[in-house]
Amino acid sequence: MIKHDPNCIFCKIVDGKIPSRKVYEDEEILAFHDINPWAPVHFLMIPKIHIASMAQVEDAHAPLLGRMMALAPRLALEAGCLPYPEGGFRMVVNTGSHGGQEVHHLHLHVIGGPRPWLRGGIPPAAQGGAEV
Ligand code: AMP
Ligand code: ZN
Repeated sequence: MIKHDPNCIFCKIVDGKIPSRKVYEDEEILAFHDINPWAPVHFLMIPKIHIASMAQVEDAHAPLLGRMMALAPRLALEAGCLPYPEGGFRMVVNTGSHGGQEVHHLHLHVIGGPRPWLRGGIPPAAQGGAEV
């Protein structure tokens, strides 16, 4: 498996070749605000190594993915999500075309903050009335 894909937008963010609004960084993990937020808080957590999607995850990645999951609640609070249970957040990993994945570098969406959540800041009426 390749650890870095020079054509991958999120690998370029890891390298600093594309700017991002950083939420968190360590040796293995980077978190940055989503460029097109669905909600008052919407950031992405990615492994720094290039893993295309959850479909490519192997047993050896379990500690890394476990660290991402365990870190998410702390980062969510720091980014402005309100405490559980009144507040909370949503964690989403879109996988493949049927899963709605657009960027093929594994990423965990962390989405939260007071509702309503307006995709891209667009009012619910303009989205067909549905909240995301
Ligand atoms: P997905 O549909 O799960 O693959 O989500 C990809 C996400 O990446 C979308 O929510 C995009 O808004 C977000 N995104 C794409 N390019 C960038 C970027 N340069 N910086 C931050 N977020 C991005
Ligand atoms: Zn990548």
